[in-house]
Amino acid sequence: MSIALVPIGEVDGEVTELLKKKLRKTFNVEVSLAKTLSCPDYAFNKARGQYLSTAILEDITYKKEYSAYERVLGVFDRDMYASRLNFVFGEAGARAAVISIARLRQSFYGLTEDKKDKKLFQRRVLTEAVHELGHTLGLGHCKDPRCVMYFSNSIADTDRKGPGFCKRCEKGGSAFS
Ligand SMILES: [Zn+2]
Ligand SMILES: [Zn+2]
Repeated sequence: MSIALVPIGEVDGEVTELLKKKLRKTFNVEVSLAKTLSCPDYAFNKARGQYLSTAILEDITYKKEYSAYERVLGVFDRDMYASRLNFVFGEAGARAAVISIARLRQSFYGLTEDKKDKKLFQRRVLTEAVHELGHTLGLGHCKDPRCVMYFSNSIADTDRKGPGFCKRCEKGGSAFS
């Protein structure tokens, strides 16, 4: 079993390194860094200034170059939205998922960043990645606000839950191994 990690547009190498290492640990699978995809102009909505996550997801789900992988995770550093939602941290299908890291930085909320905020940012990145990959494993949203599968409506929700599964979701989350 393996996951293809796909940077979409310009993505900080530290982010992909972190995900490679941590996702391997969380799901007990191989994680391979795939070639960077160019910025998905086809998904850009000019009026909103955001990218449609559903369009990106569709694009990465069936790309031939990822056919050898069980799962595909796209990582994007621009703001995304989906139908009827002002924004999304990520979106998942049965085989692929995409996350946006744009809203995971303190600076997005007008806050200045210091050293400890790097850890916070990394925790958020991992939380959103695990959440979306959890969906690809068939997990739905969880009612436990401390569980990674809880639905994040805001960055505060993301910070409250963190990257860990609750006992009930843990079984589904380990379906890889
Ligand atoms: Zn979700
Ligand atoms: Zn749960």
